Amino acid sequence: MRGALGGPRVLLRRLREVMAEPVSAQDRLDKIVVLIAANMVAEVCSVYVLRVDQTLELYATEGLNRDAVHQTVLSVDEGLVGHVAREAESLALSDAQAHPEFSYRPETGEEIYSSFLGVPILRAGNTLGVLVVQNRARRTYTEEEIEALQTTAMVLAEMIASGELTALARPGAEPAVRRPLHLKGVSLADGLGLGHVVLHEPRVRVTNVIADDVQRETHRLDAAIGKLRHAIDKMLEDDGLAKSGEHRDILEAYRMFAHDRGWMHKMREAVLSGLTAEGAVERVQSDTRARMMRASDPYLRERLHDLDDLANRLLRELLGRAPGPDREALPENAIIVARNMSPAALLDYDRTRIRGLVLEEGGTTSHVSIVARALGIAAVGQVDNITGLADSGDPMIVDGQAGEVHLRPPGDVEEAYAEKVRFRARRQAQYAALRTRPSVTKDGVHVALHLNAGLVVDLPHIAETGAAGIGLFRTELQFMIASAFPRISEQLKLYRAVLDAAGERPVTFRTLDIGGDKVLPYMRAVEEENPALGWRAIRLGLDRPGLLRSQVRALLRAGAGRDLRVMFPMVAAVEEFDAARAIVERELTHLRKHGHSLPERVFVGAMVEVPSLLFQLDEILARADFLSVGSNDLVQFLFAADRANVRVADRFDPLSPAALRAFRMVAEAGSRAGKPITLCGELASRPLEALALAALGYRSLSLSPAAVGPVKAALLELDVSAARKVLLPLLEDRSGTARIRESLQAFAEITGVPV
Ligand code: PEP
Ligand code: MG
Repeated sequence: MRGALGGPRVLLRRLREVMAEPVSAQDRLDKIVVLIAANMVAEVCSVYVLRVDQTLELYATEGLNRDAVHQTVLSVDEGLVGHVAREAESLALSDAQAHPEFSYRPETGEEIYSSFLGVPILRAGNTLGVLVVQNRARRTYTEEEIEALQTTAMVLAEMIASGELTALARPGAEPAVRRPLHLKGVSLADGLGLGHVVLHEPRVRVTNVIADDVQRETHRLDAAIGKLRHAIDKMLEDDGLAKSGEHRDILEAYRMFAHDRGWMHKMREAVLSGLTAEGAVERVQSDTRARMMRASDPYLRERLHDLDDLANRLLRELLGRAPGPDREALPENAIIVARNMSPAALLDYDRTRIRGLVLEEGGTTSHVSIVARALGIAAVGQVDNITGLADSGDPMIVDGQAGEVHLRPPGDVEEAYAEKVRFRARRQAQYAALRTRPSVTKDGVHVALHLNAGLVVDLPHIAETGAAGIGLFRTELQFMIASAFPRISEQLKLYRAVLDAAGERPVTFRTLDIGGDKVLPYMRAVEEENPALGWRAIRLGLDRPGLLRSQVRALLRAGAGRDLRVMFPMVAAVEEFDAARAIVERELTHLRKHGHSLPERVFVGAMVEVPSLLFQLDEILARADFLSVGSNDLVQFLFAADRANVRVADRFDPLSPAALRAFRMVAEAGSRAGKPITLCGELASRPLEALALAALGYRSLSLSPAAVGPVKAALLELDVSAARKVLLPLLEDRSGTARIRESLQAFAEITGVPV
């Protein structure tokens, strides 16, 4: 009896015809279940769709009681159908009632069936529903039949994802594929963004899954795999620069997967079952995703990304689509969604259209976050599987303050956020009104507020915020977003533009701070056990003086006729500072000899970000013209807590005695020596922390542009001497139980300082 109606091939052919018929969604579903039941000689075939409330609704059936359609609703914890949905794996049983999870609904009349075959309806690894066949007699479903049913499930997945079934749903019980999701991540850049998803690397959408001609599809698949392998080999060959390091590791992993027999075999089998080549790639990838997403092993999850990338490359090979979103057709309110992204890629987009950025990876101090902050784009990172959950065009809200994302938000959430956006705009207007107010506390103490910057896009912020100048210009950002070492002429051009934009206001350039987490894609990576403590910043600059020298030369030339301020990062010993300063002197002599005009005055400073310098403050102050505390690194090294590791980065409070005593040491040593001290880490960007720094004696802070308004608003209401009276005794407290943050918070509330 089996196969009397032509077997799986015929089923797929008929399915394609049904998909092309101009009928309603319900009629199409009804036809599909009849077709499958007949073809597989099963008494029952049913389609369950996962709803927004995470229950499964019967959408169509052949064989069960038809009155149960749109009435029967199962929990995902219930029965065999729930099992298939939950596990995202097919289940074939000849004696279903013997399965421990078997349960039945009397209204469907299904208790009389022995055999059960359920396959998940999957898309990008996410379950959208379940497709089931049942037989009265005990029977074993063949591999071929399981495959055919899975293929049908792919067609249904496309129907569900396209929104075709939404019209059949009761309000509030729509298919889950479009359900609102509230996802948590970490904040990368403050701000609120409302808009529509643009996938940075769009998934190639496969609409044609059923093959006309299996042999042709096999050839297409083989040809695409051949091209993919060739492309990877070529990338490995061409990649002369990446002799080692992460990039090469990824390519090697790609090569391994591209030759993986298991993967190839699965895709070929899928084609033989009647899928198009692209359908086969999609199906195997969706299954792999579903399996791997349930794995908690970070290694496996990382491999999942590699496989996703490869599958997408294969699809592009087959369908010939462009790799990225169309920059020209970017919607007005774009929210860029990506696994991860380089700063250069973000800068490639039209800034005026981007409202937000959401990444699966990315830490607070990663460079793409720095660029997002510079551009004023709300950004959230570490949002699990966001590239699999979001579709291009989906509405999305990025809450950069809370580090949360709302995908396809319900109306009330959207309204609440629209109100928040209006509120923020009003507050921004209030901050803007402070732009020209001098940054002086209530008791007359002047605390200069400078900007942290590093890109051309930062420059308009000087005028917008009314900042006193640029307290930290991170010169490495120009290097990090470039695809090759910027020439000396390009460096010169940027430094001149910065000085021109600042006009009379001072700019402090920091020399290249590369190495550690700041890698240049075009520079040969050095394998280090512990890069944060490795060959980086001034260490690299002194060992490779050519690089540092040319940068210093560009800076000196850019500063011709004006004051120039240069500082060195990661100074750990005064000898390093001496050596670096000697390079400045040497370059000055060189330029003078060659008749170049020179800066009026050159101030040379050091960053205090390695704890060893805390114990050489008098020595360094005797040599340097100024110091700038890099609290990001200083706190990371004081507490031995990686600033980029979300598990430990916020474990230690900088408003604790250990850190505050360190900051105080620098401020006091500076004032004894009569040398200016600034603090330029992220710490100064938070009003309560800025209050504490002012109380410790800091009279100059350098912050991110968005923080100037809130910090100035706090300083204007602050009585520094009163704050000192609260803070200093707490620093002397030796009980080990001082709760400084809470005490300062209470002080701010009582005295009306907005923090
Ligand atoms: C710091 O370490 O605090 C700092 C300002 O430098 P960066 O964040 O660039 O390392
Ligand atoms: Mg630093």
